[in-house]
Amino acid sequence: MGNPKGFLTVKRKEGGYRPVKERIFDFGEVEQTLNTDDRKLQASRCMECGVPFCHWACPVGSKIPEWQDALYHGYWEEAYAILNSTNSFPEITGRVCPALCEKSCVLSVHDSAVTMRENECAVAETAFDKGLVKPSVPAFRTGKKVAVIGSGPAGLSAADRLNQTGHLVTVFEKNDVVGGLLRYGIPDFKLNKRVIDRRLALFREEGIVFKTGVNVGVDLPVKQLLKDFDAVVLALGVEQPRDLPVEGRTLEGIHFALEYLTQSNLKVAGKPVLGKEINAKGKHVLVIGGGDTGSDCVGTAIRQQAASVTQIEILPKPPQENSADNPWPYWPNVLRTSSSHREGCIRRWALLTKRFLGENGRVKQAEVISVDWHKEDNGKWQMQEKGKPERIQADLVLLAMGFTQPVHKGLLNALGVAFDDRGNVKTNDKKQTSVPKVFAAGDVTRGASLVVHAIYEGQQVARFCR
Ligand SMILES: Cc1cc2nc3c(=O)[nH]c(=O)nc-3n(C[C@H](O)[C@H](O)[C@H](O)COP(=O)(O)OP(=O)(O)OC[C@H]3O[C@@H](n4cnc5c(N)ncnc54)[C@H](O)[C@@H]3O)c2cc1C
Ligand code: SF4
Repeated sequence: MGNPKGFLTVKRKEGGYRPVKERIFDFGEVEQTLNTDDRKLQASRCMECGVPFCHWACPVGSKIPEWQDALYHGYWEEAYAILNSTNSFPEITGRVCPALCEKSCVLSVHDSAVTMRENECAVAETAFDKGLVKPSVPAFRTGKKVAVIGSGPAGLSAADRLNQTGHLVTVFEKNDVVGGLLRYGIPDFKLNKRVIDRRLALFREEGIVFKTGVNVGVDLPVKQLLKDFDAVVLALGVEQPRDLPVEGRTLEGIHFALEYLTQSNLKVAGKPVLGKEINAKGKHVLVIGGGDTGSDCVGTAIRQQAASVTQIEILPKPPQENSADNPWPYWPNVLRTSSSHREGCIRRWALLTKRFLGENGRVKQAEVISVDWHKEDNGKWQMQEKGKPERIQADLVLLAMGFTQPVHKGLLNALGVAFDDRGNVKTNDKKQTSVPKVFAAGDVTRGASLVVHAIYEGQQVARFCR
């Protein structure tokens, strides 16, 4: 604890965002960063608590007080080494993690939390800038071969750890490039794709082999895979978006959010889009679903110069502050306002979509009705419609209502891997599936989740897959 009075004398200061009027015209990252002196001051706010709840809350168990101290003293190499010891991608979580750690910061009980996520990003970026992040080629090889299927954060995290252990790792990815949802889900204004490529270049130098454009189970038979490799890691993600099977669903102009975001990511990367282009320019856009994916659609539609953007959610508006039954240090179920929301969108809650109405086969409106939520005696939430339906103008509708079961049943059946009724792969506490040499990690085991959870699960696989 470099400055024992830091938490008393220094106030939380965030890097903030680029001005709205500037950032909505490009897909560059919206978040800014502090200068080095201010960044160190922010690190000095860490109280180095005897029981660091931030460390407990972070899924990868980041040793936050330790690297805050190193950061405060300007020991960049040490700060990065501590950070990297529990996380293969601090430069990515430093950008997109919802910062579970900060919600559990002891300082946040009476003041504002330490800016842990931003500090994490700053440590990683400074380490790269100073040339401190170097490829670490394993000193020896075990001779064992591991196939990782899927190159999202779970697959990449597993691949990195397995490679560092000395195994020979090949990552198979069905897309044309590596990255999973980091690449084709999350927009560039949150995560510039160069950040992924920089890390991948290191992984390649360290010996990981990437094979893209290989749909395992189709292009590469499962029997061959099991014969060629000593172990297989399934990091397939979830790919089945939740649908809204109401009247008018088949009208033109209604799309799944991920279809839209993937196209946008391809366009930003200068690549041709697959199928008919979905563009929000000049359109009244309705985003159905109030989560992160919906928010990314809002930011993308605004950058494509939509005439208006409305985001609706079926659940009630969350409270501004923690409720009594959701106390610190747990994750707070409170209202979140993203940088995209601040760029100009209408947000509404407790609205159920009844049907879509169109003209000449194209969607023009969505009919919605307000709903009340109440808890029944059995503890289950029930929804009740109230009032009269209303219509919202919408000539582009984006469905961002989460994901259901993964669509990997064919591959899982071919491998003989068991999955539950939601389609999630079943694993034991060693991330091992029902087939002993097949392991699984990330969204394919837990359903749609967070990058940091995927990273953690990838690490767990590498720990037990020996
Ligand atoms: C739009 C959007 C925004 C998000 N924003 C955030 C955010 O800001 N912060 C956050 O923490 N989380 C965010 N998430 C969630 C996060 O991206 C996921 O939880 C995470 O990427 C899951 O990682 P994964 O490795 O399990 O799967 P994925 O990232 O989905 O990767 C799975 C990979 O497996 C490949 N694959 C599947 N089947 C095969 C096969 N048979 N052969 C070869 N390859 C195959 C797929 O092509 C894919 O590349 C977001 C999700 C979405 C959709
Ligand atoms: S990964 Fe997320 S929860 Fe963990 S230290 Fe970084 S920002 Fe906090």
